[in-house]
Amino acid sequence: MSKIYNFSAGPAMLDASVLEAVSEAAKNYDGHGLSLMEMSHRSKPVMDMVYETESLTRGLLNVPDGYHVLFLQGGASLQFSMVPINLLDDDMIADYTDTGAWSTKAIKEALLYGKVNVACSSKESVYDHIPKELTQSEDAIYLHITSNNTIYGTQWHDFPIPINSNGYLVADMSSDIFSRPIDISQFGLIYAGAQKNMGPAGVTMVIIRDDILDKVDRKIPTMMNYGTHIDKGSMFNTPPVMSIYAVNRTLTWLKSIGGIDCIEKKNKLKAQKLYDEIDNNVLFRSPVKVENRSMMNVPFVFAEQGDESSFLSYCNQRGLQTLKGHRSIGGFRASIYNAMPEEGVDALIQAMKDFQLN
Ligand SMILES: *Cc1c(COP(=O)(O)O)cnc(C)c1O
Repeated sequence: MSKIYNFSAGPAMLDASVLEAVSEAAKNYDGHGLSLMEMSHRSKPVMDMVYETESLTRGLLNVPDGYHVLFLQGGASLQFSMVPINLLDDDMIADYTDTGAWSTKAIKEALLYGKVNVACSSKESVYDHIPKELTQSEDAIYLHITSNNTIYGTQWHDFPIPINSNGYLVADMSSDIFSRPIDISQFGLIYAGAQKNMGPAGVTMVIIRDDILDKVDRKIPTMMNYGTHIDKGSMFNTPPVMSIYAVNRTLTWLKSIGGIDCIEKKNKLKAQKLYDEIDNNVLFRSPVKVENRSMMNVPFVFAEQGDESSFLSYCNQRGLQTLKGHRSIGGFRASIYNAMPEEGVDALIQAMKDFQLN
C-alpha cells in the first residue's frame, strides 16, 4: 500500500511519532504497567505529564507571566459560550469580526449574554477575504477574531488592535495555533480545539490573562467558570488524559524539529508551492483573495466546469485523501497543518499536474 496523506481539515493528520507514543501508552504508559486510560489523573505520572504539556506550551509560545494555560473539554464550540458568559456582562458590548462560519457561531452565542457589534463581515462575498476596515465600538470590552478560517481558507496575517485602550483581543485559534509565532501579550484570551493542529479531539486549550476575569456580575455554572479551572489546574473534574498526552507528544515533536520559527518556515514553503500550482495550473483556481490566503487550509476549485468526483478519486488512488471541499463552498480543500510533510504537498501538486480533464 502506498503512503497515505490525509488532507482533512479536522480531525487532522498527526505526526507518526505521536501515534506510536499514544498506541504504546494505551497498553503500558511509560513503563508503569497500566494503560494511561486506566490511570488516575491524580497520580504523579499523570499530573507530571499534564504539567509538562503546559510547560511545553509556555515554552513554544513564549507565554508571559500573568497568563494561565488550561486544558478544557467541550471543544472550541463551548468557548463560543464560555467567553461571553465569563467576560461580557449584559450591559457590556463586545466587537466581533465575521469572517466565516465559526465566527458566525461565536457571534450567535455572545448575543445570548451581552451586546455585540459586528465590526466587519465578508459574508456577502462568501467570506473570500478578511475585511480591511473595522467599525469598532469605543467601549468594547474585547474584540473577537477567528485567526484562521478553516472552511474558507482565509487567515489574519496581522492582528487588529482594539481601539478601546482597556480592551483586548480574544481569538479562536483552533486551526492555526502553533503554526506561526504570535505575541501572546496582544491577547486577553486565546482558545483552540486540539484536533486541527495539536492533537485529537477531546481537549481544548485556553490561554487566559488573569486580569480580565471577575468583571461580570452574573452567576456562572461552576464548570463554565474559567476561575474553577484556574484554581484546580485543569483538574476540577476528570480531564481527557489520553487527548492531553497526544498534545504533549505533538508539542514534543514540534520542539524537536526546531519549534515555532522552524515550523512557520516549513508551513510558508508548503503553502507557497501549493498556491503557485493553483495559480499556474489552467485546470484550477483559488477562490480566496491573495493577501488573505491561509497557510493552513487551501481551498481550490476547477477553473471551468469539471467533474469533481473524478479528481477526488484520482487523488485517492494516489493515497491523497480527504480533499473534498467543505459542503458550503464545494470544490476541494487541502489542509496542510504542521503535521503534513512537504512530500505530501509535493504529491498533491504532482497529481494536479498529471490530472487531465476528459
Ligand atoms: C473546528 C473549528 C471549531 C470547532 O471546534 P470544535 O472543537 O469541534 O468545537 C471552531 N473554530 C474553528 C476556527 C475551527 O476550525
